[in-house]
Amino acid sequence: MMQAWTHPACLAHDTGPGHAERPERLRAVLDALHAAFPSLHWHEAPRATRGQLLRVHTPELLSTVLDTHSPVRVQLDPDTVLSPASAEAALRAAGAVVAATDAALHGTALRAFCATRPPGHHATGDVAMGFCLFNGVAVAAAHALEHGHLARVAIVDFDVHHGNGTQAIFEHDPRVLYLSSHQSPLYPDTGHADERGDGNVFNAPLRPGSGSDAFRAAWRERLLPALDDFRPQLLFVSAGFDAHWRDPLAQLQLQAGDYAWLTRELLAIADRHAGGRVVSVLEGGYDLQALGECSVAHVAALSGLAPA
Ligand SMILES: [Zn+2]
Repeated sequence: MMQAWTHPACLAHDTGPGHAERPERLRAVLDALHAAFPSLHWHEAPRATRGQLLRVHTPELLSTVLDTHSPVRVQLDPDTVLSPASAEAALRAAGAVVAATDAALHGTALRAFCATRPPGHHATGDVAMGFCLFNGVAVAAAHALEHGHLARVAIVDFDVHHGNGTQAIFEHDPRVLYLSSHQSPLYPDTGHADERGDGNVFNAPLRPGSGSDAFRAAWRERLLPALDDFRPQLLFVSAGFDAHWRDPLAQLQLQAGDYAWLTRELLAIADRHAGGRVVSVLEGGYDLQALGECSVAHVAALSGLAPA
């Protein structure tokens, strides 16, 4: 059974006028999912705890995000903003993935989608960057390993940007497989094919304009076989929809159907090795129409529900 997590605090993270990572993104995803799947069961995300965050983040990063308490917006870097409501949003966004992971491990929700912001996959152990404050998928993967006592978890990242933070956190942890397709060149300029970690990292950089055929070939020929060989006991998805052709930040020219195709391929592998357990998390995606269409395509494939 599929369930979903979100929290109203994620809409209050205020990045300021003209910022691409804006509350309307999450509103578009929530509106599209509510309209397409009226029977989908939603949960309010809890806050991640300090102990959960400290499995992957430094005390200094927690202090920056949680203890700034500035009455005005603070720029952590040219892209990354901390508003008065951002600490609560960051705690709920990371907490959503942890709660979804617990539900998957306990068998109450085999598959989950976390509709949250800020995104997470650029946040490293000690640096908030690229619109990301805490790395929710990394926090939840560490939780699955340590609290859930799993031996092998995989993180699949199809956001159009490379998840440098996730890779940096786990590249020397053989219990975690990290797989990413992304546009190159593009921010953050990491994710070259020869970045292999300890053999547990697979990157498939794609040239601007690559399109559906190149995207599907990279997954079919390189990334999906590596995932199948790894036999993950739980599968995480960093689900960014900014590789869609409408997206203003990248040029990868995907269609919503490409996300449905990849999601079905991932489910087949999760069914073989992970008891069907998949925890998916919204990352990027900056065109509101594409965000709605792609999240519906992704959740339809994950849930087996036909969109209304
Ligand atoms: Zn992105």
